[in-house]
Amino acid sequence: MTTLPPGSTIGIIGGGQLGRMLSIAAAQIGYRCHIFAPEESGPAADVCAKWVQGDYSDSAALAAFADDVDVVTFEFENVEPDPLRSIAAHAPLYPPIDALEIGQDRIREKTFAADCGARTADWAEVNSRADLDAAITKIGTPAILKTTRFGYDGKGQARIIKLGDADIAWDALSDAGTLILEKMVPFAHEFSLLIARDQQGSIAFWDAPENVHKDGILATSTVPAHPKVLEQVPAARALARRIAEKLNYVGVFAIEFFASDEGPVFNEMAPRVHNSGHWTIEGAVTSQFENHIRAVIGLPLGGTKLAAPGVEMRNLIGADADKWLEWASDPLTHLHLYGKHEARAGRKMGHITRLTGL
Ligand code: AMP
Repeated sequence: MTTLPPGSTIGIIGGGQLGRMLSIAAAQIGYRCHIFAPEESGPAADVCAKWVQGDYSDSAALAAFADDVDVVTFEFENVEPDPLRSIAAHAPLYPPIDALEIGQDRIREKTFAADCGARTADWAEVNSRADLDAAITKIGTPAILKTTRFGYDGKGQARIIKLGDADIAWDALSDAGTLILEKMVPFAHEFSLLIARDQQGSIAFWDAPENVHKDGILATSTVPAHPKVLEQVPAARALARRIAEKLNYVGVFAIEFFASDEGPVFNEMAPRVHNSGHWTIEGAVTSQFENHIRAVIGLPLGGTKLAAPGVEMRNLIGADADKWLEWASDPLTHLHLYGKHEARAGRKMGHITRLTGL
């Protein structure tokens, strides 16, 4: 392992708000970030040293990008893995592409997690209308039909509460390739784990936030979580450790769980920094963004303990961000806006974090 010295350049694939917050964390400790993204500009453009516009499938452009930096990472996982492999000959790439590939496909992800000892929702693969009927018979209702690839923020999902909903769900998703039918898990609480692993193999966890989703989009993350979640954190962490080690992971990743009566149920993992970890910027000794940067440049991880007795993060979705002056005028609120120009419904425009109990 070699530790890159300050002044080195980190290449980031993807230029959204995660790239923006990674670039800010890198700049704070003296590193520069170059962004590679297909758009002309994006939330990371305001804070990075260089923005390279290129297609994620353009291996030559990715290789040229990698030649210009000292290490490459990614903040966006819906990228075809093969072109990314061309980076390896030009610069080290963290996290491993295997993690990206597994996280891109809900079936691979659930199979991999189960191999590592996870409990998952009952599920079945669906490739035809007949498969869907068979899956409903096997799994029962209520269930959720999901695309296996490229779903995010609740997109690419249709609920099947009763048998009669199958036609509508099929019509909505049948063009999206292989689908997965998942049994609805009864749960009172959702939580996630944020995990960092450095190049020496040291692992750190932050406190597990309890997450509330609205319309499939994360609304709030709160620490400490409900006692019922806290009971399940040790089992969830043991699983996360097995996953991190099996993948020889370097960087930060997140796993989302349902806290069911039977214990933690693995929902999905993201091989990157995660929205449910934004609270760590002010709420922990070291943020998820800084620890991801530390891991990829070869530094040891920073501490992950809480910086306050409690922390609440709320996403500003669409028009929520119009109240920026109100949030900015509250001395207990940290306002984060991502510099997006258009506040479309369902679009993450920023977030606010409050430290509580101080
Ligand atoms: P996902 O895109 O899989 O994270 O789904 C978005 C949200 O939908 C989750 O955070 C849950 O609130 C809900 N959800 C997804 N899958 C299930 C399931 N199998 N059982 C219960 N709720 C689910």
